[in-house]
Amino acid sequence: MIEKIFNCTRCGFCCHGETTVSLDEQDVANMQKCLALSREELIERYLRVTSGQIQMKIVDGHCIFYDKNIGCKVHLGRPWRCRQWPLHPALLKDGSNFSIIAESCPGLQNDMQYEEFSHLLKEILVQKEADGGWKVKL
Ligand code: SF4
Ligand code: SF4
Repeated sequence: MIEKIFNCTRCGFCCHGETTVSLDEQDVANMQKCLALSREELIERYLRVTSGQIQMKIVDGHCIFYDKNIGCKVHLGRPWRCRQWPLHPALLKDGSNFSIIAESCPGLQNDMQYEEFSHLLKEILVQKEADGGWKVKL
């Protein structure tokens, strides 16, 4: 169903900037498993911890895992917020949030009526939360 409202073009825009998403402990464990690294090795090589908040390091203006030729180098172990993006619950609040996110994410289906889009998104978010993959507060 996701493909009705979102198809990632792999443009990489969301992996750029001076900060990244925050990782929770499950994200750290998933990434450790994916990369076969100890927690200490993972933090030393790829993460930064500031005031208890864990994010990925930034290199040349993008997440350390981003590669312009292959995209995300930790795709299977990426944080849940990366897996969820851009289908954030804030899109359900009003159409202006949708317009703002659609401007930066070409994968979002933006020729659909907002009502239809939000109906489909709500179904997807409920299902994803039930599956335990995304943390969603509707
Ligand atoms: S900005 Fe959107 S389309 Fe581009 S890589 Fe990120 S999720 Fe995919
Ligand atoms: S972990 Fe992957 S998807 Fe997430 S910001 Fe980094 S490169 Fe992008």
